[in-house]
Amino acid sequence: MIESLQHIPLADGTHGALSERFSDLAPPLTARQAAIESARCLYCYDAPCTRACPTGIDVASFIRNIHDGNLEGAAVGILKQNIFGGACARVCPTEILCEDACVRNDDAEGQPVKIGLLQRHALDHAHFDGHPFQRAPSTGKTIAVVGAGPAGLSCAHRLAMLGHDVVVFEAREKAGGLNEYGIAKYKLPGDFAQREVEFLLGVKGIEIRHGQALGSKLRLADLHARYDAVFLGIGLSASRQLGLTGEDAPGLMAAIDYIATLRQANDLAALPVPRRAIVIGAGNTAIDMAVQLKRLGAEEVTMVYRRGFDAMSATGHEIEIAKTNFVRIRTWAAPLEVLLDEGGRVRGMRFEETRLQDGRLVPTGSFIEIAADAVFKAIGQGMGVTALADPLARELERHGDKILVDDCLRTALPGVYAGGDCIAPGQDLTVQAVQHGKLAALAIHNDIQSKAEAAWPT
Ligand SMILES: Cc1cc2nc3c(=O)[nH]c(=O)nc-3n(C[C@H](O)[C@H](O)[C@H](O)COP(=O)(O)OP(=O)(O)OC[C@H]3O[C@@H](n4cnc5c(N)ncnc54)[C@H](O)[C@@H]3O)c2cc1C
Ligand code: SF4
Repeated sequence: MIESLQHIPLADGTHGALSERFSDLAPPLTARQAAIESARCLYCYDAPCTRACPTGIDVASFIRNIHDGNLEGAAVGILKQNIFGGACARVCPTEILCEDACVRNDDAEGQPVKIGLLQRHALDHAHFDGHPFQRAPSTGKTIAVVGAGPAGLSCAHRLAMLGHDVVVFEAREKAGGLNEYGIAKYKLPGDFAQREVEFLLGVKGIEIRHGQALGSKLRLADLHARYDAVFLGIGLSASRQLGLTGEDAPGLMAAIDYIATLRQANDLAALPVPRRAIVIGAGNTAIDMAVQLKRLGAEEVTMVYRRGFDAMSATGHEIEIAKTNFVRIRTWAAPLEVLLDEGGRVRGMRFEETRLQDGRLVPTGSFIEIAADAVFKAIGQGMGVTALADPLARELERHGDKILVDDCLRTALPGVYAGGDCIAPGQDLTVQAVQHGKLAALAIHNDIQSKAEAAWPT
C-alpha cells in the first residue's frame, strides 16, 4: 500500500540530515544535570508522583539513589515495578502523569522534577552482571501469552520471575509490539526496542514463537486446553475506517501502516514521501504521523479534526511538538469525500465544517477542500481481523472492540486473562499495558496457587 504514495524527491541536502531529524527527541541528561535535577526532589512522603504512575514506581526512592550515586539501586527500583522502564522513560506522557503531580509545580520555580529524564539516566547508566532479578523455584506450570507487546512481555517476565515457564505466541517477525512497530522513531530511536526485549528475556524461562497468529493456525481453545493459563495481549492492530467511498484508493492509507514501514526502514531516504499530506485524527498517532512526515521532508502536512483543540486526545505537549514542526492543524471539520484524480489516485479531501449545538456535534453546511497527494487515517484502532476469526476469542465478552475483564484482568472465560490496549477500560498507553501485564501475571499466579491448595486433601 505504501508503494501507492507518490515519491517526491527530497530537496538537496535533506537526505544527510534525515538521521539527525529522527534522533532522540529529548536528549539525555549529563551526569552533572542528573545530579542537579535529583537534588531538586523533596523526597515527599506518600509522594503524589508515585500515585500518578500507573506502575507505581517509587519515584522519590529512585531519585534519592541517583542523588547518592547508586544508579544500579535506582534502576532495580524502577524495573521491579516496570520492566519496560527504559521505554516508558522515553515515551510516557509524563506531563499528564508523574510530572503533573509533582509538588514542585506549585513552588516558586513552578517546574516539576524531570522524572522521565532521571528515570532514563538511571537505566541508561546502570551496569548489571546478568539479569538483575532471580526466578523463583519452578512451579512446573506453563502459561501461554499471545502477543509480544509491552502487555504480553511484561506478563511473561513477571510469570517467569514467579517460577512459571512461558511460551509467547507472536504474529510478527519481531517482538516488542508497538515499541518496535508503532512509537515515533524519534522517541525510541535505533534498536532500543529490541535491546529492551533482549534484556527482559535475560530472566530466562520465556520462549517466543514468531509467526503465530491467534485466529490463523493458532486457536484459543487449544491454548486453553494445553496450558495452565492464557494471557491475551494482542493490542489493537486494525485501523478504523472512515466509511467513505474511495477509501481504498492509492494514496489513502492507515497511519499505523506507514509508521510501521518507517520504523523498519534501513534507509529513510528511500521511503515514499508525499509533498502535501492530510492526517485525519487528533490523537498521538495523528501527531506522530504528521510530525514524522514533516521530518521526512513533506512540504505541507495538515491534521484535520472534527472537534476543537479541547477535545483532542493528544496531550498539550504533543500538540506543541506538532506546531514546532510546522504541522497545520484544522479543527471543526469532518471528512466527507475522498477526492480522486482521473487516474483514481487521491488528490485531496472534502470536509464539512462542524460546530457544537446543545453539546452535540452538528454539520454547518459549509465545505472546505484540501489538496493532498496522500491522506492518512489516524482515527483509532480496533481488534485485528485475524484474532476475531478465532471462534473462542470472538465469543469473549467485549465492549465494542475491547475485551471485558475484571479488576484482576480475568476475562469471562476461566483461565483466560487479557491486558493492554485490547481490553476495556484502558488508556492505551505503554505504561498502562505494562501494568496490566504485571497485574495479570500476579492474578494468574494467585489463581493457580488457590486451585492447587483447593485440590490438596484435607
Ligand atoms: C502510532 C502510535 C504511537 C504511540 N505513541 C505512544 C507514546 O508515545 N506513548 C505511549 O505511552 N503510548 C503510545 N502509544 C500506545 C502504545 O504503543 C500502546 O498502548 C502499547 O503498545 C500497548 O501495548 P500492548 O502490548 O497492549 O499492544 P501492542 O504494543 O499493540 O502489542 C500487541 C502484540 O500482539 C501481536 N498480535 C496482534 N494480533 C495478534 C494475533 N492475532 N496473534 C498473535 N499476536 C498478535 C502484535 O503483533 C503485537 O506484537 C502509541 C500507539 C500508536 C499506535
Ligand atoms: S512529587 Fe516531585 S518532589 Fe515530591 S517525590 Fe515526587 S518528584 Fe520528588
